[in-house]
Amino acid sequence: MKIVYSSDCLNYSQVDHPESPRRVSSIYEMIRDDYDFVTPESASDSVILETHSVRLFESIRDGAFSDPDTPVFPDIFNLAKLAAGSAVRAMEIALAGESTFSLMRPPGHHAGHDNLSGFCYFNNIAIAVTQALKRVEKIAIIDFDCHHGDGTENIFTGDGRVLFLSTHESPLFPGTGLESHDNCLNYTFPSGATETDYLPVFELALEKVRAFNPDLIAVSAGFDAHKGQPIANMMFETETFGAIAKLIASLDKPTFSVLEGGYCNELAASVREYLKHI
Ligand SMILES: [Zn+2]
Repeated sequence: MKIVYSSDCLNYSQVDHPESPRRVSSIYEMIRDDYDFVTPESASDSVILETHSVRLFESIRDGAFSDPDTPVFPDIFNLAKLAAGSAVRAMEIALAGESTFSLMRPPGHHAGHDNLSGFCYFNNIAIAVTQALKRVEKIAIIDFDCHHGDGTENIFTGDGRVLFLSTHESPLFPGTGLESHDNCLNYTFPSGATETDYLPVFELALEKVRAFNPDLIAVSAGFDAHKGQPIANMMFETETFGAIAKLIASLDKPTFSVLEGGYCNELAASVREYLKHI
């Protein structure tokens, strides 16, 4: 297991914004002695533009956007490119035979082809998957963040080379992912859902991934279904993320994971539990 990480990702913040540097630094401090770390390079402009529109690219580059959840920070363009490059690096290491986790921010799964949203500027996992599709034929994206991966769905809907599986709380931001369609499998859970509600459904959903027989698995690893979350209402235990990892690992495919959400004090312990079993 390798962790792709740069402390540069700690270099933006806004008072009282849940997507804080402390999220990632707390994880780093907890796992720093347990894994080998790899330093990422920024994704190139052309790599970003193979997934995103010129309009979105230029608006982030120029700070020409307005979204209260997803503010204009100094240098956010370069920091978002670095997070995207980290996901690409994680993908490359996975294809070379070793599991990887991209420990970076900003997260990505709400960013669509032509829009930023929900703390996400560029869609890190979609950028990595777009690049991986030059090397393998079929990729499954598994998104267990408490919020629907609407940006990832937007980018890959109708692309038969990709199977997108998202499990999420509903109703909750962004309000999408209520039904499955095309190559997108969506599973919703009510406020208060526990691992007893979740794990059997997740295990059955993974059977569809197994039947798809992907060459590579990309995981949007969000930890905000933990019971301690301030902005979501599912009730996972810290250990639930180990159980999720075990089920994903049982698919026995090259796998890389990318940090998405997770905003409570149990985030670092949740990630540690996940990494033990993925
Ligand atoms: Zn989330």
